Amino acid sequence: MVSYITFFTGAGVSAESGIPTFRGSEGLWRKYNPMDLATPEAFQKNPKLVWEFYDDRRQNIARAKPNKAHLLMADIEKKFPNVAVITQNVDGLHQRAGSENVIELHGNIWKVRCIRCGKEEYNYEAPLKELPPSCKYCGGMLRPGVVWFGESLPFNELNRAFEIAERSNFFIVVGTSCQVYPAAQLPFVAKQKGSKVIEINPEYTPVSDIADISIRKKATEGMEEVFKILINS
Ligand code: NAD
Ligand code: ZN
Repeated sequence: MVSYITFFTGAGVSAESGIPTFRGSEGLWRKYNPMDLATPEAFQKNPKLVWEFYDDRRQNIARAKPNKAHLLMADIEKKFPNVAVITQNVDGLHQRAGSENVIELHGNIWKVRCIRCGKEEYNYEAPLKELPPSCKYCGGMLRPGVVWFGESLPFNELNRAFEIAERSNFFIVVGTSCQVYPAAQLPFVAKQKGSKVIEINPEYTPVSDIADISIRKKATEGMEEVFKILINS
């Protein structure tokens, strides 16, 4: 039987690349909580402040490199026929590591979208010249092309993610606290449909209760173990 291998990742997979997570991060971004800035309300109230936060993150991500965990996932995609990465991250590091089948559930920090004409495109300028940036087609204000707390996930990506979860044989959850729904449901759907669930996270999460294997390690070390498990399966 051909195995379907799925990686489901969150901010923790990029932590060792020097990209901070939101929850349990080293504290505050300036005097604000990142989770209070990643909302439509925050953007409405103070677009410049929200853009300063994203501009900082974009510069940090531009300097960061994919780590061993991203690289091992890309390597596994080359060795096995049906591998997918479903990510809640917006940093694009999976693609930079060489993964091709990546589903981005929360958008991408390198995308900008006009709130007036709706045009969305990639913009790799970091730092941006003006904050908030404006649309080169209509002059409207641009917003980051990411999904904020309280917004719905992109329909097609979410559907694909659930389809993939349902047919997985190995569902490997890496560096996500599994607290943000509906994405957090994916490991449970996979398990219910008979997949083996492996978790890599130094901390306990709701997935730990249903995981066949819990690897209480950082992503890079944990992925080396998973690599061996898959090669020997
Ligand atoms: P999250 O809810 O996915 O939580 C981070 C998890 O990573 C925690 O469970 C933590 O125990 C674990 N972790 C920390 N260091 C780790 C390591 N070295 N190896 C493995 N696991 C590790 O993410 P969040 O920070 O609460 O962010 C909420 C939302 O914002 C999510 O959609 C998230 O992906 C997004 N976000 C994305 C990025 C990024 O693109 N890199 C960064 C911050 C936040
Ligand atoms: Zn526009």
